[in-house]
Amino acid sequence: QRKVLMAGNWKMNPASIKEAREMAALLASSLRTIAQDKPGFDVEVVVIPPSPFLHIVADVLSGTVAKIGAQDVHPESKGAFTGEVSTGMLMSMGVSYVLAGHSERRNLFNESDAVVNKKVKAVLASGLSPILCIGESKEEYESGLVKDVCSKQLREGLVGVSAEDLQEKLVIAYEPVWAIGTGLTATPAIAQSVHSYIRSVIKEMYSPEVANAVRIQYGGSVTPESVDELMTCPDIDGCLVGGASLVAEKFSRIFSYQ
Ligand code: 13P
Repeated sequence: QRKVLMAGNWKMNPASIKEAREMAALLASSLRTIAQDKPGFDVEVVVIPPSPFLHIVADVLSGTVAKIGAQDVHPESKGAFTGEVSTGMLMSMGVSYVLAGHSERRNLFNESDAVVNKKVKAVLASGLSPILCIGESKEEYESGLVKDVCSKQLREGLVGVSAEDLQEKLVIAYEPVWAIGTGLTATPAIAQSVHSYIRSVIKEMYSPEVANAVRIQYGGSVTPESVDELMTCPDIDGCLVGGASLVAEKFSRIFSYQ
């Protein structure tokens, strides 16, 4: 049985450490309420703030079930890489998950599949869990290239990744670029069909066991209104939430979906 993973990617928000602390505090109080009211609550919740706020958010959320994620990492462990952050630094701040290949990194910062693969491997080598993000653009979607794009990003992102790491650590996030920040959530039917396709690619690359064990999140305009139906899809194991994760009330409603 795959454990549901709900992650909130804050992207480059909020504007100050004060606001980050307040957002995390609201979330912490909502997680404490859930822990009291729903003793069986068994969803993995991950908060992914910008790197300057990792420490404070980890601190405020300590004692709750929430784990901390980072939005990006550099594949090298140290050295002359001005502006970059290493896996070791992230670990020392209490991070458990690291996004790799978010479409904004791919598109705005020219990250190739090869670079994404290096990051995935560095994250795994450090013992952390990568969330490998894949997904097609609007043009690709309209040209019927969904499977080709997802298959290529998967195959190239997973080069050198062992079955064990995929089964136990790595998470895949399917985020159609046309659904990110647009209010256009993929319909549950579209999302389910792509998730099922992703699982079939993993089955072909690895084995039925690995395909059955790997968690696949959906991302792209997930809201309290759309989450319940998305989560009824058999191959959707959680959501990667952007905008709605900035509002504690909305994110809480999302991770306590029905
Ligand atoms: P939105 O939920 O704002 O569409 O963002 C999705 C996303 O990119 C999460 O990583």
